[in-house]
Amino acid sequence: MAKKIYGIIGDPIEHSLSPAMHNAAFDAIGLDAVYLAFRVPQHEVGDAIKGAKSLGILGLNVTIPLKEKALAFVATEEVATKIGAINTIEFCSGTPVGYNTDGLGSLKVLKETVGNINGKTVLILGAGGAAKAIAYYLDTAGATVTIANRTKERATLLVSNLRNANAISLAAAELKDSIKDSDILINTTSVSMHPNEDATLVTADLMHPELVVFDIVYNPMETKLLREAKKAGVKRIIDGVMMLVYQGAASFKIWTNREPPIGVMEKAVRAALSRDF
Ligand code: NAP
Repeated sequence: MAKKIYGIIGDPIEHSLSPAMHNAAFDAIGLDAVYLAFRVPQHEVGDAIKGAKSLGILGLNVTIPLKEKALAFVATEEVATKIGAINTIEFCSGTPVGYNTDGLGSLKVLKETVGNINGKTVLILGAGGAAKAIAYYLDTAGATVTIANRTKERATLLVSNLRNANAISLAAAELKDSIKDSDILINTTSVSMHPNEDATLVTADLMHPELVVFDIVYNPMETKLLREAKKAGVKRIIDGVMMLVYQGAASFKIWTNREPPIGVMEKAVRAALSRDF
């Protein structure tokens, strides 16, 4: 039987950790499959999805900046339609079907640290693709969500699709007020991502020790925001690695219907991060 092919599309794509994570998972369960990274410019996303189907590729992940554009070229399951972005496509049934596993991954990570999300107050920095997915899952789980974004209109639009949420700007006074009343702070912006490792939207003086601080950025693993959280005496700090692993594991399950080897996937991601960044 021919080797099964999976992959990821995005632009840029060189630094994606998904090939290392999924190839390690395929090896671990003895699946004769390979996972490759494909650089696809925004205007070619439709051609890439159609081409992948013709080539017999069985599954794709979709990353920056294609998650919203790709929606137009697949049938989407209900949650992905509500979120308005996909990060996973499966081709098994003939028609490409789009899913969003980012929100699922973030919710799993948060539940491991916080327990029940219902009734928690959450401030999310950012209103991009990842923020949409995370906000949808937290809102559905019963959290009260505030979105703070550089482009306020984007935050306002995101909030209008949620049940119990409001939008603020990134002005320090607004952030301070919101954080004072928050249980959880989540950074979903790319602000502190490599190579801008000394940038952060929130500093220690705005935080309190009972806050849970979660940065979904995983390169570097310890972002400036997390370093500031430590300075403020924050006890519960979460980096972006396990969200990456859980969203990848959910894609893996959709494609293969096999139990993902979470430990192997985490190990592969941490090894690639310590090698590449
Ligand atoms: P995106 O759709 O491009 O959104 C980027 C967000 O960052 C927007 O809200 C944008 O604000 C904000 N932003 C960018 N530069 C900024 C700046 N200088 N100051 C203030 N805000 C700024 O990207 P995404 O897909 O949501 O991904 C965002 C980050 O999350 C990336 O670093 C990505 O690697 C990471 N991520 C991690 C995981 C994981 O599994 N751990 C999953 C998905 C994404 P505007 O709206 O004003 O432009």
